[in-house]
Amino acid sequence: MNEIGFIGLGNMGFPMAKNLIKAGHNVKAFDCVESICEAATKAGMQLTKSAAEAANDVEFIITMLPSGPIMLSVYDEIIPVANKGCTLIDCSTVDVSSAFKAHKMAKNAGFASLDSPVSGGITGAEAGSLTLIIGGEEKTLNQARPILEVIGDRLVHCGKGGAGQSAKICNNMLLGITMIGLSEAFVLAEKLGLDHQALFDVISTSSGSCWSLLNYCPVPGIGKESPADHDYKPGFAADLMLKDLTLSQQAADETNSATPMGVRATQFYNEFVNEGLGELDFSAVINQLKEMQRG
Ligand code: NAD
Repeated sequence: MNEIGFIGLGNMGFPMAKNLIKAGHNVKAFDCVESICEAATKAGMQLTKSAAEAANDVEFIITMLPSGPIMLSVYDEIIPVANKGCTLIDCSTVDVSSAFKAHKMAKNAGFASLDSPVSGGITGAEAGSLTLIIGGEEKTLNQARPILEVIGDRLVHCGKGGAGQSAKICNNMLLGITMIGLSEAFVLAEKLGLDHQALFDVISTSSGSCWSLLNYCPVPGIGKESPADHDYKPGFAADLMLKDLTLSQQAADETNSATPMGVRATQFYNEFVNEGLGELDFSAVINQLKEMQRG
């Protein structure tokens, strides 16, 4: 059993912290929204009044927050009060430079740290079956492994500090691009009078095959069950896809990397979200394409 501080009890953080309780750990939890904190107490967490209080007297501190600036402001609060030997694990999806800064802040104060963004969404968080995409020293990962294995069932060590966030945004940039490309193929096929199932049968066994087709087809009734079969209820909301694409383009700017498809995918999801559709699953972009004219 470990003493764990958990900060950020939103859609993802709450079920992750709950699984840690179920696995027999003690969790001191904090979120700035009070109503969430009440539910945390009911779930067996020890409620605190501040991030600093949650970070005091624990062996691990896990953060699951909306953005890099918020995560860094929480690090400002928790680092001065954390116990010697405590390990800081940030599971939020944040910009790569904030991840580097967080590791530096931890290191300067004598703490081991990991960046460990996750993949698998709310259902994965509830089931404890997330994929953890990890950056940091192997020794730190091995110390944290028993905790992380409660949260996720697949731990991928990508390299030194910041490598987890780097890998996550590269993956999600590609996911955004492939979902648009796949949707274009289905819309073109439809206009050519081709049957959806016929196109699925061809692509799934041909060179155009991809994860989005095999596991997350944007067309209802085709392939595995997906948000398309439930009126595009997320799943993975377009808002979050736009967030990750934006982070990928921030990293591309900072490293002077050419990502023309990443730029276009970001613009595309930006337009989709600006139309008030950000709460739909990201695969709903297929409907946007159906309405568009060539040009
Ligand atoms: P969320 O907005 O539901 O939760 C974030 C929580 O942080 C909220 O409860 C908020 O009140 C709390 N918070 C904000 N500022 C705080 C502060 N200063 N101190 C304490 N608490 C604070 O978001 P989420 O869906 O749980 O996502 C969390 C992170 O995980 C994000 O970085 C997101 O990009 C990433 N992520 C989300 C999903 C998903 O499907 N929802 C999937 C993968 C990764």
